[in-house]
Amino acid sequence: MDGSIVNSRAPKLAIDSGACGSLTIDLAALCRNYDKLATIVAPARTAAVVKADAYGLGAAQVSKALYGRGCRYFFVAHFIEALRLRPQLSGDATIFVLNGLLPGNEAACADGGIVPVINSLDQLQQWSDLARSLQRRLPAVLQFDTGMSRLGIPPEDRGAVATHLRASDAIDIFFVMSHLASADDVGNSQNADQLAEMRRVAAEFPGYDVSFANSGGIFLGGDFHGVMARPGIALYGGAATSGVANPMEAVVRLEVAVVQTRTVPEGARVGYGGAHVTKGRTRLATIAAGYADGLPRSLSDRGAVYYNGIRLPIVGRVSMDSTTIDISALSEGALSFGSMVEVLGDHQTVDDLARDARLISYEILTSLGHRFHRQYR
Ligand SMILES: *Cc1c(COP(=O)(O)O)cnc(C)c1O
Repeated sequence: MDGSIVNSRAPKLAIDSGACGSLTIDLAALCRNYDKLATIVAPARTAAVVKADAYGLGAAQVSKALYGRGCRYFFVAHFIEALRLRPQLSGDATIFVLNGLLPGNEAACADGGIVPVINSLDQLQQWSDLARSLQRRLPAVLQFDTGMSRLGIPPEDRGAVATHLRASDAIDIFFVMSHLASADDVGNSQNADQLAEMRRVAAEFPGYDVSFANSGGIFLGGDFHGVMARPGIALYGGAATSGVANPMEAVVRLEVAVVQTRTVPEGARVGYGGAHVTKGRTRLATIAAGYADGLPRSLSDRGAVYYNGIRLPIVGRVSMDSTTIDISALSEGALSFGSMVEVLGDHQTVDDLARDARLISYEILTSLGHRFHRQYR
């Protein structure tokens, strides 16, 4: 790995910038992940889901890098994300809004050349009304609920949607789509149930292309690929499928500075609430990241960081801006004030940290704070 390059340079860069930690986003690894997914789903196309600021990694940087790799389709969740991303990308990139539009946002959406995902008959009617008043066809994606009960046109409204589309050609449908609820769990029967329901949708809307797979769906096989896959987490290095080795490359590294070290006797209380009591003489270090930086409080007395490959357990409660670790496993003086410890990197993946925190990788990535020095490679 080329991690040593980062290890030798990151501390100085971070500290020079005034930050106490260094968040490195490897755009080359991101692009290799994109290529890997694109190869699996070809000849179907591979979009990129860049909602929530590309899962915390920077929607503009991530989208531009993937555009350079050939990606032309980008999904955000909220309309405001599309408004912010639109000027960052070339005109031949298409931006889709998964949550659709709130009443009143239609004109701005049409104006911005942004494509809404229509989730209800109401939204379809409003979008059609606008198309008629502008006297031009407007693009859209139709999302159907195939069993998740979250977003999308429910089964009982399909007939009315079909009637609406037959009566008017105001809307230019890119494709119809649905979202899988259990795609990370290969053995879950909900996947086959949703696929069967998606096939019923396709039969009721003949002639339209289908988009179905998120990251997990890509690994469920060709039946789930349709014409366009919509991966998010797998692009960013997270595991798409639980219980199997993750084939994706890590994209994020996080190193955080030690701001103080100390040696305490047996029986010392560590952190808020005195929740941790040392069982013997213990060497401790306090690092400059806490729950406000995305180290979840649920890592209290559970998670760990690494230094030179050695696991250093978190002791006591994670604070807002700092976290205390037990460095007794290191030889005395190996780590000192200003040293950088690895939170995410060669020894700890985003899924490892999520497991310790009893969260999912998505929550870890989207929570990584803005007090670190961010560098894109
Ligand atoms: C978030 C989202 C995705 C991407 O999901 P991942 O599991 O991160 O790949 C795809 N489609 C829809 C509708 C989503 O909401």
